[in-house]
Amino acid sequence: MIVFTDLDGTLLEPDTSDHHAALPALAALAARAVPVVVATDRTAAEIGPILAELKLDTPAIVENGGGIVWPAAGAEPAEACTCYDEIRACLDALPARLKCCFAGFGDMDTRRIAALTGMGRAQAARAARRGFSEPGLFTGSETQLAALRRQLAAHGLCAERNGRFLIVSRGASKAERMNAARALLEKRDGRRYWPLVALGDAEEDREMLEAADYGVVVANPAHPPLAELDGEREGRIIRTELPGPMGWNAAMIEILRRLAGSAEFGD
Ligand SMILES: [Mg+2]
Repeated sequence: MIVFTDLDGTLLEPDTSDHHAALPALAALAARAVPVVVATDRTAAEIGPILAELKLDTPAIVENGGGIVWPAAGAEPAEACTCYDEIRACLDALPARLKCCFAGFGDMDTRRIAALTGMGRAQAARAARRGFSEPGLFTGSETQLAALRRQLAAHGLCAERNGRFLIVSRGASKAERMNAARALLEKRDGRRYWPLVALGDAEEDREMLEAADYGVVVANPAHPPLAELDGEREGRIIRTELPGPMGWNAAMIEILRRLAGSAEFGD
């Protein structure tokens, strides 16, 4: 099998980014050579140290599906090129009446990004090293937002609200990257990975959970529970009672127990 997991609020504690409560399940997966692929809204620069600490040598889906990187393979982005420069060029070319409404991370210094996000300065610097998407503050009207979206759409870009930020990207999702990440691993390892298990805690994970063979909604008391997902009624998607890495650990141990010995778990 292959596991896709969100980081913040799922495999990592939301405040401390600690993953230690999930170590037993991570060890059980490692013992069975099950790859764990991170799928996060963070940048490649942010997750490099996290992947190292988690001892994951797998590709990772970054910037909410914007792209795939594979730090352990020594690759910069696993794709031909990133699209950040293209996004910035498009924003820079906006008419003045729209340009003045959007301040992206690329327009801000690290101190400002840290203040806006609550990150420390070092992490804010890593969050600013973007490859596939540009978060920023939009201060215009709904009419101006509609005009901005039309301008961006002409360049194959879109703008989605995420909390206080407006994110400009090509609009890919974590779910759309799952098969590409799996294909990279299948090519490296010369074997097929199935079934797909996905874990997440938030709306941005919904599509990924629904696309997997088994999904786990990890409890996050910091926001209202997700509305029912496709596949939840049939038991294909389960919810944890425990939050964060504690919930991750319990759910993964349970899934391993259920799949142990079944044909689905392969050899
Ligand atoms: Mg999350």
